[in-house]
Amino acid sequence: MREYVSLEEARDMLLHNCQPAESECLDLTAALGRVLCEDVLAGENIPPFDRSSLDGYAFDARATLMASREQPAVLKVIEAVAAGSVAAQRVTENTAIRVMTGAPIPEGADAVEKYENIELSGAEIRITSRFRPMDNIIKAGEDVREGDRVAEQGMVLEPPLLGLLAALGVTRVRVYAKPAVALISTGDELSDEPGALQPGKIRNSTRITLQGFCTRLGADPVIIGTARDEVTQIMALLEAGLERADVVITTGGVSAGDYDLVVEAVRRIGAELLFWKINIKPGMPTLAARKDGKVILGLSGNPASGLVVFQLLAIPLIRKMAGHRAYHLATLEAVLLDGFKKPSPARRFLRGQLVLANGQAGVRLTGRQGNAVLSSMVGCDVLLEVPSGSGPLPAGARLTAFRVD
Ligand code: AMP
Ligand code: MG
Repeated sequence: MREYVSLEEARDMLLHNCQPAESECLDLTAALGRVLCEDVLAGENIPPFDRSSLDGYAFDARATLMASREQPAVLKVIEAVAAGSVAAQRVTENTAIRVMTGAPIPEGADAVEKYENIELSGAEIRITSRFRPMDNIIKAGEDVREGDRVAEQGMVLEPPLLGLLAALGVTRVRVYAKPAVALISTGDELSDEPGALQPGKIRNSTRITLQGFCTRLGADPVIIGTARDEVTQIMALLEAGLERADVVITTGGVSAGDYDLVVEAVRRIGAELLFWKINIKPGMPTLAARKDGKVILGLSGNPASGLVVFQLLAIPLIRKMAGHRAYHLATLEAVLLDGFKKPSPARRFLRGQLVLANGQAGVRLTGRQGNAVLSSMVGCDVLLEVPSGSGPLPAGARLTAFRVD
């Protein structure tokens, strides 16, 4: 087991020890936000037939070879076709068929002129310019060709992709199963009950936060429960978590205090410790272990420490398990809009909100930055990295921001 690892080492150890979950087949209507488990090839063309791009008249372009303002091509209108119907007749060299936007191009026709540009007299139209084949026609397969790879394994089924698949007649897709994430809280002081608090107790605020993060990441949170600071109780919940979920996340009990029993419980259930303590602030007391091919991530009980480390480590972990191709946190260079007075002997992550304005990416800090401060998690969509050994930071400092939204 390694102690005091870097954030990247910790992250890589976790990623190395997890795999995407199984797959399942879903109706397209139930697949929003899920991750494709296989490539999808187009089984048909979009559009399926040559169609008119506007309301107008379809004719044979050759009929307009000599057309001019002085000598228009004169064609007899023999039929009208709406979108959804098919012409009964064929266009010949001196006939035309009225077509609406989206209507199939009648046989014999290969060009369309807009309604507004056409002189109509009785059943005849006059065309005053020359046309080339395919003018104002959307060709079959112009958007997607049968056989095209329209989606790849690891792509998220966002609304436009669902639409594209629907356009191809796909009704079911194979996606990765949602990873189940067991959530275990530890601490004698925690109360999960509503109503007045007993003396010395605090409310379990982290559990619902982690539950929300997991759901938003496309995982199924499984609430295992709250253990008192008692090794056998923690062991029982860890075992239940490993039984019921693909990954187990605990909070509390991972520092070096008298009641920090998660480390011991993890050892006693026979899990192999991967690391304990990361060189960052907040969130130094963090633990990871593995058992039965599953990862246990032990977060600090301090709300900000636990939640910041969840974002830095568990977001990539859960994304990978959910089948995403791009599971790392996106980073960008951003300007610190407020100053930050404290020096940072250790590498630090500040909670902030991204402000995109005046052509630059700025970050406004969301509040006080202490380990136990929960309120500054609200509105936090980026973590701003302050390198170890930094002094106080003036407003305007350029730093790396990790997107955690
Ligand atoms: P620990 O990591 O167990 O030493 O806890 C550190 C601090 O976080 C203590 O003040 C705990 O009361 C608090 N804490 C632990 N778990 C939670 C939780 N689930 N929700 C809110 N605060 C917590
Ligand atoms: Mg505790």
